[in-house]
Amino acid sequence: MKTFKNILLLGAALLGLTQGVVHGADFPIKDKQITLIVPFAAGGPTDRVARDLSEALRKSLGVAVVVENDAGGPGGLIGASKLVRSAPDGYTLLVHHIAMGIFPSLVKNLPFKIDGDFEYLGMINDVPMTLIGKPQLPANTYKELKTWVTQNKGQVNLANAGLASASQLCGMLWQATIQVELATVPYKGTAPAMTDLIGGQVDLMCDQTTSTSSQIEAKKVKAFGVTTLKRLTTPALKDLATLDEQGEKGFNVTIWHGLYGPKGMPADVALKINSALKTALKDPEFIKKQEGLGAVVITDKRSEPAEHKRFVLSEVARWAPVIKGAAVYAD
Ligand code: ASP
Repeated sequence: MKTFKNILLLGAALLGLTQGVVHGADFPIKDKQITLIVPFAAGGPTDRVARDLSEALRKSLGVAVVVENDAGGPGGLIGASKLVRSAPDGYTLLVHHIAMGIFPSLVKNLPFKIDGDFEYLGMINDVPMTLIGKPQLPANTYKELKTWVTQNKGQVNLANAGLASASQLCGMLWQATIQVELATVPYKGTAPAMTDLIGGQVDLMCDQTTSTSSQIEAKKVKAFGVTTLKRLTTPALKDLATLDEQGEKGFNVTIWHGLYGPKGMPADVALKINSALKTALKDPEFIKKQEGLGAVVITDKRSEPAEHKRFVLSEVARWAPVIKGAAVYAD
């Protein structure tokens, strides 16, 4: 009798163990939702791409995909660290941007390794940025802006999403380009910064077009330039001159976003997520939404995990000397 009970207990324990193992064939289990961590506040550019992607992934995976905003820390460190600590079962993923390529240069004592603690699941998009100002600014053109900023540098401030954010990177490069050091105001994402910019509490910001294009179109903010070498074709931004053509030769910043899981995910689960991502990248609805906001959906091999990883590591190497050179302007 005792032996039979032991066999039952052993059986239950084994069942428990095998239930914890995820295989691609069962993934995703019906009714179990997938969480996409966004390491910035809701309503900003990272949140925008994650929400559009969640809809496209839901269509191809057939389960709910919800966005969770875990904002805070330099470069969205809180959300990224939460992902690294979560179970590598495919149900917790992270949408993150260029911070993955600039973290090692800007954040001392990173609590994770860019190279070893993430499962690379493919890149999503490239997004240009725009330099924008509060509607009350006396300047209307880029030339007037530069004069006003230079004459008032002690009073002018620049909003951003904190250290190691895309907006900080762009603002840092702009300050280094025009040789003026400004005070910066950090937020938990550029959505709350945008609210304050529209309200006139802060003066300037550099942010992705996925957030700025609608505000520029509605004339809620003043737009001074786009950060790509070529003008954009998006209707809302096609008349906006590049910073390069306005005298800042070579000024070129584009923000990429990718999809990540915690290291240790079963290979077949990672493969399923990557193929759902690639389906999303070809989804006409997803493409239309993203292109309408000035983003370029990835069509090259960076949608493949190995290329995604190779690209991120090449970005780490590319930005290190640039950031070192401009570090005097870091927050
Ligand atoms: N655009 C932000 C940044 O500057 C992040 C965000 O709010 O999505 O990094």
